[in-house]
Amino acid sequence: MATLTFDSLNPATGETVGTHPNQAPEAVRQAVGRAEEAARWWAAIGAAERRRRLLDYKAVVTRELRALARLVHEETGKPVGDATLELVLAITHLDWAARNAAKVLGRRRVATGMIGLNLTATLEYLPLGVVGVIGPWNYPVFTPMGSIAYALAAGNAVVFKPSELTPGIGVRLAELFEESVPEHPVLQTVTGLGETGAALAADPRVKKVAFTGSTATAKRVMAACAENLTPIVAECGGKDAFIVDADADLRAAADACLWGAMSNAGQTCVGVERVYVVDAVYDGFMRELSERVANVRAGEHYGPITMPGQVDIIKRHIDDAAKSGRLVAGGTGAVRAPYVDPVIVEDVPEDSPAVREETFGPTITVRRTRDAHEALELANTSAYGLGGTVFSRNARRATELARSMRTGMTAINSVITFAGVPALPFGGLGDSGFGRIHGADGLREFARPKAISRQR
Ligand code: NAP
Repeated sequence: MATLTFDSLNPATGETVGTHPNQAPEAVRQAVGRAEEAARWWAAIGAAERRRRLLDYKAVVTRELRALARLVHEETGKPVGDATLELVLAITHLDWAARNAAKVLGRRRVATGMIGLNLTATLEYLPLGVVGVIGPWNYPVFTPMGSIAYALAAGNAVVFKPSELTPGIGVRLAELFEESVPEHPVLQTVTGLGETGAALAADPRVKKVAFTGSTATAKRVMAACAENLTPIVAECGGKDAFIVDADADLRAAADACLWGAMSNAGQTCVGVERVYVVDAVYDGFMRELSERVANVRAGEHYGPITMPGQVDIIKRHIDDAAKSGRLVAGGTGAVRAPYVDPVIVEDVPEDSPAVREETFGPTITVRRTRDAHEALELANTSAYGLGGTVFSRNARRATELARSMRTGMTAINSVITFAGVPALPFGGLGDSGFGRIHGADGLREFARPKAISRQR
């Protein structure tokens, strides 16, 4: 029999942070029923009122910033400063979605181009109804808010299933929403284990599922959604490449590489995991990187590995990489579960798990390439295609490389910065999933186009 409740634990101390109901499929169905009614009301109050309520919610979340950051810290283990940054970015998206929904989705006239007919045409984007959001634990506010804010701004009600590792913050976000929208449960959280999310995906009254998590789970969610032809946005894993070209600023590149690889203990879908450095600057870049990494320690600069089983995967990748490549920093000795110190390995064969699979730890493989084209070719061999980075002082060349990178997003001379720009669509291709959150594309993901042509 399924457990009735489950605890969320602080991964650093093992202490219980909170106890939550393991909601059975029937409880999920009831939540979806309530959301259907709430969705009708929320759609009917109109875009201007929704904007007002969402900006009010933004003010409430901002007011609670410190307490929320503390809760994220306790549930994930990440430093309070990192949790605060995550919240600030989530708030930025909430603000953008609220302010831009009417402009992006509202009714507009479109040219008919039909000569001889007295025809006018309009296009607008209407709410879908109930949206199910299934979220991961690594960025338990920023990531789901990238769907929740946009789905709500587009006029939908949301039922949110947070990760079983971070239920408390999900519950709190929905509780706070009631302050701004007390009339109906427009945003609800259901807590539980994988079956809770499965029940949400399988409910035919859910008109879209926004899933963020692993590629394997995305396939299961898609299979459940297929039963009802429920569309899905799938934001999955990554294996981001970082290219250092011959004319790159090596100090800036080393700083960015280290941050992109080690922040959040490497538990970032768009974290740097593969580094390709052009031969001419290889030694210089490695010198800069090694100097910096020598001062970085888990538990001091970043937190623990949040998901208990993940340490074994990281260890397997380090073992394998160390056998076939050359350790520059760390090694299996770097693993002091739940903490993992930085690991850098050179010359790991491209077909090894450390290069092919998502490691989700503070580890990188580095490879010397003949030139930037070879670096790009290798970067593009991954089955994933989420984000990437190019460092080059030559603006034209950097743009060419960025455009040719087989990813949804690429940063030039910085790392992961695209995620913080609300107007930019976020998402990937291949094993990284499909569909987009954030920006105008993100708003349209949660709406249906309505086309009307009128003969006068
Ligand atoms: P996960 O294990 O795939 O879980 C994600 C969510 O799906 C959790 O809420 C999980 O619930 C739920 N779930 C599990 N089985 C389900 C099922 N059969 N039907 C419906 N829902 C189900 O992923 P995770 O370990 O939480 O997150 C890490 C992964 O997320 C990494 O691969 C990372 O790259 C990816 N990620 C991607 C992005 C992006 O935007 N592309 C952002 C952040 C993270 P339980 O917690 O109860 O299992």
